[in-house]
Amino acid sequence: MQRCCFDCDYFEIEGKDVSEMTEADWRNGCAEGECRFHPPVLGPEIERDGDTFRCFGEFPKVLSSDWCGQFKPRTT
Ligand code: SF4
Repeated sequence: MQRCCFDCDYFEIEGKDVSEMTEADWRNGCAEGECRFHPPVLGPEIERDGDTFRCFGEFPKVLSSDWCGQFKPRTT
């Protein structure tokens, strides 16, 4: 197992459960997913038609080939 987001317990790809991921997901090498290590964070304020608002919070976007110091090997 490599140290990469794809093999990390905190990685979620496009709303799929990790057990639904295929080798093709990995071979693509740049599949985008979300890191669920931390709760969602609010994005920047957006101004539209004179109103200022914030969208829902988002989880950080990561690539399957990324990794960080919080890597935890996937157990499922
Ligand atoms: S950024 Fe770190 S904690 Fe998040 S999925 Fe990647 S390796 Fe795991």
